[in-house]
Amino acid sequence: MRALILSDIHANLEALNAVLEAAAGTYDVLWNLGDVVGYGASPNEVIEIIRPLAQLNVRGNHDRVCCGLASALGFNPIARAAANWTHDEMTEENRQWLAGVPKGPIHPEGVPGIVLAHGSPLNEDQYILTMRDAWAPLQQTGIEITFIGHTHLQGGFCQREEQWHELRPRYETRNDAESWILPLPERTRHLINPGSVGQPRDHDWRAAFAIYDSEASEIVFHRVPYDLTTAQGRILMAELPEKLALRLREGR
Ligand code: ZN
Repeated sequence: MRALILSDIHANLEALNAVLEAAAGTYDVLWNLGDVVGYGASPNEVIEIIRPLAQLNVRGNHDRVCCGLASALGFNPIARAAANWTHDEMTEENRQWLAGVPKGPIHPEGVPGIVLAHGSPLNEDQYILTMRDAWAPLQQTGIEITFIGHTHLQGGFCQREEQWHELRPRYETRNDAESWILPLPERTRHLINPGSVGQPRDHDWRAAFAIYDSEASEIVFHRVPYDLTTAQGRILMAELPEKLALRLREGR
């Protein structure tokens, strides 16, 4: 079984299209780890692509606020402005679909040892940025592979007995399509972040995703370039905060 794992698409249609094109024919199921919308200018288009394609969806904090399930008061002013814009822009049908997306952790049926979450499997809003953050979910859940999003940083953490490692894919360029293979050794627990499709924050502007292959026992991380200028133009034309367009080029 091969799963295409996407997170933090954030209404970036051009990035999502580039990812789906690059991944076409290489996966059996699609799992979405949340934050489909918020920040970007194409919430309806992105939801309408993901809805029929994804077998499993986990809600993100932006999804929750944009569909009206939670208040935007905890967001910074830019995120709040984008959430309000997204709420008004979405069709009623798409808002309702988003409101029905379940919170993590989610256990995919028939795939033991795998969990999907947006933040931490212990708390959907927690950012797992450091080994300290990774410790409790790796220790307490007993799960082999937990897929997470939320930080917009591709990579993750692994633990085998008393050994702990941070995982960061290594790439040669900043402009081409590239991949990096992570073999999954036995008796090792992993927290894996596929990175953000639509708003990467690891100083690499390329759209990020990952493919988990249970038979090969590996995860392949990918980066693909996308039509950045069009995505930025849509944000500016929608009169969303300018910073949301500029940060895409910086990958932060
Ligand atoms: Zn996000």
